[in-house]
Amino acid sequence: MNLLERITAVSANINRCCQLSGRDPESVQLMLVTKTVPIETIIEAHQLGNHLFGENKVQEVVQKWIAHPEGSLVKPEFIGHLQTNKVKTCLDVCSRIQSVDRLSLVEALDRELQKRGEQREIFLQVNSSDEASKFGLSVEETLPFAQTIQRYQTLKVTGLMTLALFSQDEHKVRPCFKKLKHLFTQVQDTGLFGEDFQHLSMGMSSDYQIAITEGATLVRVGTAIFGARSTPDSHYWPDL
Ligand SMILES: *Cc1c(COP(=O)(O)O)cnc(C)c1O
Repeated sequence: MNLLERITAVSANINRCCQLSGRDPESVQLMLVTKTVPIETIIEAHQLGNHLFGENKVQEVVQKWIAHPEGSLVKPEFIGHLQTNKVKTCLDVCSRIQSVDRLSLVEALDRELQKRGEQREIFLQVNSSDEASKFGLSVEETLPFAQTIQRYQTLKVTGLMTLALFSQDEHKVRPCFKKLKHLFTQVQDTGLFGEDFQHLSMGMSSDYQIAITEGATLVRVGTAIFGARSTPDSHYWPDL
């Protein structure tokens, strides 16, 4: 299958899952996760009408996207672990940041955005699998954290993001998504972030269909569209 066929196949799966769970297919967005994918392929996907891209490493965005004349046509969203010393560059080369998971990062983002007189859309990353090795706020600390950061006017919190447990066992994966959906509704109910808080980013190649039946509004798919990566995921998620 070529790129268009693979994107079409995933989109068809998304539509089918929406129908099965009584959801509007328009309520789920497909993000193409392009770590290790060459910029030429990304540009091809963009020309096919895709606008939502995710990258995990600031350095890779700089080297791959920015170095290419057409690469700056569309900015990827950031979905990786963000070190505070990369905040400036990340704000330069990426758009929305889905992986905000600690106060020191919020403060670093706020400081830089204040300097620029800008506001930036972010998601909070939550650890829904209780694995000590993964990044993200624990489910328990997310509500208090949301309350703490509400006062940072430079940040517009519009959603939650999670990685489920890495497992082939649906019975272990699905509860992670259920937990996140519940938390998402709780945060929504607080009204802290208003009506714009509406995104639930969960589901990857192996589990996006489960995530959709549990309420995902944005799925992040790499491998199922671009093929297997030669770089191990531990390079992108150092603590895995
Ligand atoms: C790599 C990655 C994905 C996509 O994973 P695939 O299994 O290739 O679909 C999604 N989300 C995050 C945060 C990732 O790092």
